[in-house]
Amino acid sequence: MKSQSVNGERYKSIVQLAPGIVYTLSKDGAITFLNPSFERITGWKVKDWIGKNFATLIHPDDLELAAQTVKQTLKGERPETFELRIKTKKGTYKTLEFSSGPDIINGEIVGKIGVARDITEFKSERNTNLHYANLIKSADSAIMSRSLGGTITSWNKAAEELFGYSAKEVIGKNFKLLIPVENSGEIEKIDKFIRRGRPLSDYETVRVKKDGTRIPVLAKISPIYDEEGKIVGVSLFDRDNTVMKKEEMADKFLTRATKVLSSSLDYSYTLRRLATILVPKLADWSSVHIVSDEGTPVQLAVAHTDPKKVEWAKKLQKKYGEHRNIDDPNNGVTRVVRTGKSVLYREVTDEMINQAVQKKEDRELIKKLKLRSVVMVPLLSRAGVLGVITLVSTDPARLYDERDLKFAEELGRLAGQAIENARLYLEAQNEIKKRAKIQEELSDSRERLSVILANVADGISVYDEHANVVFVNHAVATASAYKDPGSMLKRPVKWQETFEVMDESGKTLSVKDLPGRRAVFERREIDETVKSINKKTGEEKWANIKARPIIDAEGNFRGAVSITHDITEIKELERKKDDFMSVASHELKTPVTSIKGYVHLLKMYHEKYENNSSYNFLSKIDHQLNKLTELIEDLLNLSRSKSGKLDYNMSEIEISKLVKEVVDDMQVVNSTHKIKLINGVKKKVVADPERISQVIINLLSNAIKYSPNSNKVVVGIKDAGNKLDIFVRDYGIGLDREERDKIFDRFYRVKDQTGRTYPGLGIGLYLSAQIAARHNGKIWVESKKGRGSLFHFELPAIN
Ligand code: ADP
Repeated sequence: MKSQSVNGERYKSIVQLAPGIVYTLSKDGAITFLNPSFERITGWKVKDWIGKNFATLIHPDDLELAAQTVKQTLKGERPETFELRIKTKKGTYKTLEFSSGPDIINGEIVGKIGVARDITEFKSERNTNLHYANLIKSADSAIMSRSLGGTITSWNKAAEELFGYSAKEVIGKNFKLLIPVENSGEIEKIDKFIRRGRPLSDYETVRVKKDGTRIPVLAKISPIYDEEGKIVGVSLFDRDNTVMKKEEMADKFLTRATKVLSSSLDYSYTLRRLATILVPKLADWSSVHIVSDEGTPVQLAVAHTDPKKVEWAKKLQKKYGEHRNIDDPNNGVTRVVRTGKSVLYREVTDEMINQAVQKKEDRELIKKLKLRSVVMVPLLSRAGVLGVITLVSTDPARLYDERDLKFAEELGRLAGQAIENARLYLEAQNEIKKRAKIQEELSDSRERLSVILANVADGISVYDEHANVVFVNHAVATASAYKDPGSMLKRPVKWQETFEVMDESGKTLSVKDLPGRRAVFERREIDETVKSINKKTGEEKWANIKARPIIDAEGNFRGAVSITHDITEIKELERKKDDFMSVASHELKTPVTSIKGYVHLLKMYHEKYENNSSYNFLSKIDHQLNKLTELIEDLLNLSRSKSGKLDYNMSEIEISKLVKEVVDDMQVVNSTHKIKLINGVKKKVVADPERISQVIINLLSNAIKYSPNSNKVVVGIKDAGNKLDIFVRDYGIGLDREERDKIFDRFYRVKDQTGRTYPGLGIGLYLSAQIAARHNGKIWVESKKGRGSLFHFELPAIN
């Protein structure tokens, strides 16, 4: 090429067109020339700056450098390129790269000549890059890059820490060395993705560290482009995912545990399964204890990664887990049960074992089990601690921490809940079964009962606590002239239109006087014989009604039940018997009276002619006739009393006088017993002296009759305030309880052991009781079989 000389015009053109600033300065720094680029780069007008000092355009911090270069150029030197920040019209600074040298005219330095190009953008880019580089270097995350295919091209500090390789060791090597064998295709797979320009974020994978262990990472993988936009590599941004993984696993595990725990209501089975699913994911061995009813923990399940070791573990836990001494701090399980708080032994050292375990063989056992880290958490329910879950790690790389503890606690809570649910469910089931059974039995017995009630011959009515009729059976309804029980319940007192009801003495009874309602009002048992007359037909019926209050299981009064027993037939028989007796005794009396008259005549005759033996026989006949008369008299009295015809002639009488007369008379005819009289009470009574004597005679003759082996009877009167108690004591055969209740009944007579009875009709005491009642008094007896009797006859006294 032929060299071309450059003339002034052409220089000028070049200077005008140059993209950078071309300038000249005088020796003292004043601007002498600027090309048009100055305007474009700084925004200032060229003409405004000609003649001004160049220094005023320079950033104050750069002045020193500028001055230095000026000095150099003025000395004739050519300084290296340098950067200065120049103020623009906008007030911002731009970074310019300067090349300058001395301005020489005719061999003399007249100033400085230079060019400057704007490097602001470049500069900031470089800054950013630097910034990035620093960031990558100091980032917490491992940041790496590799080529497509895998050659590692960069490796930051965090990557060194995370994976254990230094940058020097791995740069240039293939990324494969970080990828586990089972993922060997990963690089190709990712490259395929990257080649399509697709970044991968939150890519979960596992890397192999320098020491061979694995680490879960969460990676961001993006393509690297060259200037032309071609993908030339891959950047990787790895974060340690261990914690996340653990949490995720814990979550998954808890989900699984929840499933297991809720799968069966048999909680002992459930807990055994729980123990097995804990191993090996969370522990090398695990055990579950449950608190027994006595409050002591009992081992329910042990699971071990090595099944052979289960026995050892069981043995060990038995010894140290169920230890009864709860104050022993080494006694983990019991302590958890007692406090409800978890225990974490992060790292179990040999020293700890030695300190805690006395026996050498136990120590050996623990060492064989390689106990490294232990967590014990309570199985918690609302009711308290139900048991304990123990997790043991034998792996020095798995030391339990607070996070594991939290997790285990959550598990314990879940398991506790599951147990509680199971228990509640079982309880509810049992309760339901029990209720169903009771219900069944109840309806069974109700059915039976209603069949019985409907069909019994006796009338049954039930009253509520307000004396309303709530139930009647068929017998009551029909006897009361209703169609059926239902119609009686609708109009329960309609029967009054048909029937008149009265008591034994003939007094008419109103509805409220009837035993069922009285039992409600008086809240006591009522036993009464009533008569009903059908007003239309005149038919007479008798019934015995027993009514009794109903008290429920809680002791509350609920009403009354009344049972009506028809005794019309019995009454009829009785009446016939009474009629017969009245007639019989009447008919007997006449011949006996005339026999007695003739016996008297014969006695007088034989007395006169001193035919002693005949006289004696006649006396005996007379005596027997007296007895016969007495019996007939009894019978007559009875029928009179029954038909209400017994006459009473009441007057004021001094009872002690009366008693003395009776005793004197009785003593004359009774030589077997001495009748002792205890007297002295002067009080009077209003009474029929005939009838009172009759009672006393009856009591005295009984006392003598029923004490054949004794010779003494005691009679006395006691002042009992407004009453007088006439008592008769004998030392005879006595009465047992059953007999005592019945002797005042008509015709009741006690039989002795041989079945033999004493002569008598069983009427005397019945009549005596009637007489007592007519005087508003009463008769009762105190007695014991074989120990004699004490009869009391009580009458109201006049004070
Ligand atoms: P009786 O005329 O048969 O004696 P009572 O009515 O007087 O009839 O007595 C009824 C029954 O009471 C007697 O049959 C007798 O068994 C018993 N009894 C009465 N008084 C006594 C007594 N003092 N000691 C033992 N038993 C007695």
